[in-house]
Amino acid sequence: MPFTLEHTDSKTKARTGVFKTDHGSFETPMFMPVGTIGTVKSLSPDDLKSCGAQIMLSNTYHLYLRPGTEILEEFGGLHRFNRWNGPILTDSGGFQIYSLNDLITSSEEGVEFKSHYDGSRHLFTPERVVDIQRSIGSDIMMVLDYLTGNPADYDTAMEAHLQTLRWAERSRNHLNSTKPLYEHQQFQFGIVQGGTYSDLRKASADGLMQIGFDGYAIGGLAVGEDAPTRRKVTDECTDYLPENQARYLMGVGKPEDILNGIELGVDMFDCVIPSRNARNGSVFTYSGKLNLRNAKHRNAKGPIEPGCTCYACSNFSIGYIHHMLKINEMLGLRLATTHNIHFYLQLVKDSRKAIKENRFAEFKQEFLENVNR
Ligand SMILES: [Zn+2]
Repeated sequence: MPFTLEHTDSKTKARTGVFKTDHGSFETPMFMPVGTIGTVKSLSPDDLKSCGAQIMLSNTYHLYLRPGTEILEEFGGLHRFNRWNGPILTDSGGFQIYSLNDLITSSEEGVEFKSHYDGSRHLFTPERVVDIQRSIGSDIMMVLDYLTGNPADYDTAMEAHLQTLRWAERSRNHLNSTKPLYEHQQFQFGIVQGGTYSDLRKASADGLMQIGFDGYAIGGLAVGEDAPTRRKVTDECTDYLPENQARYLMGVGKPEDILNGIELGVDMFDCVIPSRNARNGSVFTYSGKLNLRNAKHRNAKGPIEPGCTCYACSNFSIGYIHHMLKINEMLGLRLATTHNIHFYLQLVKDSRKAIKENRFAEFKQEFLENVNR
């Protein structure tokens, strides 16, 4: 078992643990910065490390289209290609196919889509998606799942859950009948679907557990439902999933969403928000968000966040970063991204500390009061 549960908070479902891979371990709860095509935009692997990253996420769909599996295999996998030597998790590509409107047809066999780069047609089957992730060499791979937006009617949500389950079984069988291409072990997570319906979510979790995976993800959220519904579904899913295995809430979200997920017993998170917001000049702090492009910052001499130990805050004033962003100098993007990724990783680090001291609820409360003040 790659995951070890260490401590559960005495007043909430929040928990700490460690996930072990051949590229090193990461502590949970953990945030995984998103490096879509192999890198977190503007950051080097050393930058990521200095932000406190212990694992990164990359996209199967994008890596498959560019640079393609042939190049990845020639280089000996993504770790040797992008020089990030820690753990890598890759998603299955399902979400991109649906959200980028690239879908042509979906059948029992798999999903056919057109590349949004050149319009060429491709078929992703559950087996093909495992093969692509073998070529990438990710430490944790995700199964191909079938998603719908929220709200979805009961029959549509049922269909998505059943299709996901049949594909999950094919994915697991294919993983078990193939070997890694490189010299490290690859784990595989199943994905719970079922829309906003409790009975479907339970059936989905039970079905996946029967197949048996190395960890479980909660999918089909942050696709149109409101915050209370997201909370309800997450809460139910963590009740249905096994205690001693890792739980990953896919693609969620803002700092408060991450704290809610942690409170409900989620171990792993990813989201493009910190890097995407940074590129627009929007940065997170423990006292709320700042827009660094705002003219009022042009003579601000202090750091983005006093006390923050990130490279940007340790060396540069808000006024200088404002100037870099205003003239579209690349360093501005890099510094803003560095701070935001560091902020998310500090948030999960502080959460782990609070859980170990059985005061996660107070920590969350304090955080929310400060950012909304
Ligand atoms: Zn900072």
